[in-house]
Amino acid sequence: MGCLVWGAACNPAPSPHWTADLAIEGATILTMDPSRALYAPGTLLIKDGAILALGPQDSLAGQYVATRRLQAEGQLVLPGLINTHCHAAMVLFRGLADDLALQDWLQFYIWPAEAEFIDSLSVRVGTQLAMAEMIRGGITTFNDMYFYMDEVARAAKAAGMRAVIAEGLLDFPVPGSPNPEQGLARTRRLLEGYQNDPLITVAVGPHAPYSCSSGLLQQADSLARRWEAPLHIHLSETRTELADIARPYGGLSPPAYLDSLGLLGPRTIGAHGVWLSPADIELLAARQVGISHNPESNMKLASGVAPLVALRQAGVKLGLGTDGAASNNNLDLWQEMNTAAKLQKVHLEDPAAMEAYAILLMATRGGAQLLGLDQQVGSLEVGKRADLQIVDLQGPHAHPIYNLYSQVVYALRAGDVRTVIIDGRLVMEDRQLLTLDEASIFRQVDSLAGHIREKLLAP
Ligand SMILES: [Zn+2]
Repeated sequence: MGCLVWGAACNPAPSPHWTADLAIEGATILTMDPSRALYAPGTLLIKDGAILALGPQDSLAGQYVATRRLQAEGQLVLPGLINTHCHAAMVLFRGLADDLALQDWLQFYIWPAEAEFIDSLSVRVGTQLAMAEMIRGGITTFNDMYFYMDEVARAAKAAGMRAVIAEGLLDFPVPGSPNPEQGLARTRRLLEGYQNDPLITVAVGPHAPYSCSSGLLQQADSLARRWEAPLHIHLSETRTELADIARPYGGLSPPAYLDSLGLLGPRTIGAHGVWLSPADIELLAARQVGISHNPESNMKLASGVAPLVALRQAGVKLGLGTDGAASNNNLDLWQEMNTAAKLQKVHLEDPAAMEAYAILLMATRGGAQLLGLDQQVGSLEVGKRADLQIVDLQGPHAHPIYNLYSQVVYALRAGDVRTVIIDGRLVMEDRQLLTLDEASIFRQVDSLAGHIREKLLAP
């Protein structure tokens, strides 16, 4: 018998004596599993970091013992959100320079700031700040591309966060890698060092078709294939990129160009996908490429509006991302969900475009699928790792509730997230971060920002 919505528990063979490490009791549980199962009130049991059982509270009552119980009446349990594209440590440059043309922003602020201030220490503290913000907003997995990614991996493990990490590979010197060979060597070391890690997945990260030579793209691809690793790349982000690729490569679009080099496949994660023709969309679907949609960054940098509805109709895997905080300016996927839905509606002049369920799916199970992690996370199902958030439903903006998916996408917000569990471990409880020392992080970030301000903003 399959799972029943509002019905019988979706569990393995019934046992009167489940022994759980943690029981979450009394909450409304929105599983985001393929059957859209919803339990109100429900119980969810966690053992050894995985979901042991979940279902209606009545059917599980008396069936288990638990080392710890969390009473969650009046709260909503959801899968942790999955940020499918970001540059976490760029929180250090949040608000450094806004409302500028993209080229000026990069050339006069971001690149000089990165050249001078990005090192292993600043990446560590920047990533810690980013993780504090993400955990507070219910994000349990982030897909990161930046520099000194060994620091990101260490910081994520220490904070108990799940991360997919890619050392950014570019043709020119970048922090930590004076040439692309060094970037590839860093990537190889990460791939070797984090095999079968419970929290860290290593991806290969050629930055973009316009910032990597064909040779570098192919080297990155063969490394990703050898290790069966995800390949994370910016793709068709701006109109300029179309011209920059078409000119030297016989009029090819960025996806067609990457395909000619063999880079498009089921493990390819394309960030943005704004400027895509119908033929590009068909190609992405045929190659099973996933697209990370980053609407707020696309709006702030005036990049354009991604053809989300057409991508979805073509069956392209879709996730949501924040991009770096410097172009957003926060790492809040609740806002991103809200924006993603509304942007499509106004752009297509169709209020029915991208309904709430489809948007929440992108931020949870869809994102997990994009990252190749859907067997482990993305929905609340028996046997999956316990990555979840407990969200308060007591605020005035949470009343009344007719449709939970609508409530999540259009009314609730990051500040409503009270408790976050990753891989079965409590990382935030009642708004208290348990694995990150915010006061110390803020002190270090503010001190670093003082130097950045002095160097780049001095009159
Ligand atoms: Zn990006």
